[in-house]
Amino acid sequence: MRRLRPRDELRGDSRVRRLTVWTPGQTIVIQEVWKGMLWAARPVILVEDRGSFLAAWCPKGTRRKVPTTPPWRPRERTRGERLATSLELRDWVLIDHEWDVSTLMLTEEGAMHSVWVSWLDNGEHWGWYVNLQLPMRRAQDVVQTMDLALDVIIAPDKSSWTWKDEDEFQVAIDRNLIDEETASAVRAEAAEVIRRAQANEPPFCDLWPEWLPDPSWGLPHLPDGWDRVTKRKQ
Ligand SMILES: [Mg+2]
Repeated sequence: MRRLRPRDELRGDSRVRRLTVWTPGQTIVIQEVWKGMLWAARPVILVEDRGSFLAAWCPKGTRRKVPTTPPWRPRERTRGERLATSLELRDWVLIDHEWDVSTLMLTEEGAMHSVWVSWLDNGEHWGWYVNLQLPMRRAQDVVQTMDLALDVIIAPDKSSWTWKDEDEFQVAIDRNLIDEETASAVRAEAAEVIRRAQANEPPFCDLWPEWLPDPSWGLPHLPDGWDRVTKRKQ
């Protein structure tokens, strides 16, 4: 099986990037892609596009597509096993899922993570969720990436942090879906983000927790073509 490597899987295409102009309020699609197959898709509202930095808004109630075990296969016991088997077999179905926490996603080009700022229903800052993922690749109104299972949750005041989904990350490594080189890179990236949070460096020192969406925006919806996967150049 061809293993997933950060540098060759989803490299940014600078030619496409220069042609892509995204404006605040516009809906774009974040696709997760595994070996050319669509693994997940969510609509988000573009907040800020600085070329090498994107901020995108995914409010609570946004309907997205997530993978699940197809009805023709037995359903395994844990989420980690179910996800790993679907990836191994390249066999899953996409179902609707309603996003349950309003989230602003801050992503730097080339980074193996995105920092998600989340809020409770009462508007209180819930915390910082560091989503480890393959570096984003931009295409027409689409950002492609792939989740790498492991996450870090950092308290709003950055005084403490905790791992999330270490078990799912380990299953993916045990099944050779994530190779050791990538796993090491993910751990190093996580450690660096934790260090930045504790040193109060960007984006953790920025005013993002006080950011508010434009009240006219509402919920983003998946546009036509949300399931079209642009092939990367070989
Ligand atoms: Mg996870």
